[in-house]
Amino acid sequence: MKRGFLNTKKAARSAVRHAPDDQRDEVQPGQQNLPVGNVETAASEHRAPGVKHVELGSGKTDDLLGDACIFTAIPNVKPGTTLAEYPDNWTECIFLDPKLKHVILNTPNFPTCISKVPIPRQRITVTPSMGLGVFATCDLKMNDLILVERPLVILPNALSAPIDFSGGTSVEQQQLAMLMKYEKALEVMVGRMIPENRAALMSLENVHKKNGSGSIFGILRTNGFGISALSEDEASPVTYSAVFDKLSRLNHSCAPNGVVKFNVSSFSSSLRAVRDIKKGEQIFISYCEAQVGTAARHKELAAYGFECVCPRCTDPASDALYQRIVKSTMEPAGPLTLPALLAESLSWMKKIEAAGLQALPEYGTHMIVAWRAEAALGRMDEFERYQRMWKDWYEVVNGKPHGG
Ligand SMILES: [Zn+2]
Repeated sequence: MKRGFLNTKKAARSAVRHAPDDQRDEVQPGQQNLPVGNVETAASEHRAPGVKHVELGSGKTDDLLGDACIFTAIPNVKPGTTLAEYPDNWTECIFLDPKLKHVILNTPNFPTCISKVPIPRQRITVTPSMGLGVFATCDLKMNDLILVERPLVILPNALSAPIDFSGGTSVEQQQLAMLMKYEKALEVMVGRMIPENRAALMSLENVHKKNGSGSIFGILRTNGFGISALSEDEASPVTYSAVFDKLSRLNHSCAPNGVVKFNVSSFSSSLRAVRDIKKGEQIFISYCEAQVGTAARHKELAAYGFECVCPRCTDPASDALYQRIVKSTMEPAGPLTLPALLAESLSWMKKIEAAGLQALPEYGTHMIVAWRAEAALGRMDEFERYQRMWKDWYEVVNGKPHGG
């Protein structure tokens, strides 16, 4: 299925796949960033012409600052390590700032083992109209863990190191040159991967075959997830994306039944159910901003090259319902008794559930109103029930602090 490559901070911060516009079309001369490249522990056969390589630990750490980029594996396994020796797998990364690697390595409990799903709860199979998809192999409850995976690769959404284009070539030529140079850096990254991970990466779909993206860059743009946890400080424009073997097969719905969240200490992403899922149902996540109307979602999804026909998009009343859901969490016009406030929130929870919009934040807001109202009314069983439900929901949409 179609995926895109993040290029906005806003998209990276959303809890969803990122869906950028075609980067090449947006780039202005002199603004596009490309790698110079420092390669950590790269074998000589992986060196790409035109890419500067510096071995970490060579004492040349100053060279890693500024416009250089760093190729590294996280967790940093020894060269020659096999998946049999390290089944949690590891991620080939390109970082622009060595500080980011230090931040990761200094994250408490890093690297935590990735959580194991006791029995497989999903399988990847062909869908009638969306290519491959991920399907539930058993009934799932909200907050059930479905799949945990280390990314195959993580890389920045833009690389720094401007190229001198004083030669006077056209914008088109400059952009193609930059894409080619980027592809060379990506070849270095792919060259460092073990054959199993490389084959998994290269088997993913590429919807950017005709716009100048190289074959690796096209796959990354098609399948990347924005990783807001690795985005550098607020002032920095750098955001990072991750590509996965299995999670990158998830298809999109504007009314998703699954949510993927990244955790730094386990260096993995987890897919959880955001509502109950029946055995055999396809699991969907949202690639776009969910808190907008249909037209805005379709504009964002256009970069993926498909028209969404999910239940939310095909219901002509869905935009009006969404507006009413948003309004339902605002201050009521007049004073309400506690039982009336509770009844109102319970009724909205039911409407949100009926529309399959449990990933919306308003669902959580109504749960909070419900458990607080039940507590104030002294009904402790109901209070506990709604509070537990809210905690489960909160873990799904925000991720567990320690992963899994
Ligand atoms: Zn949709």
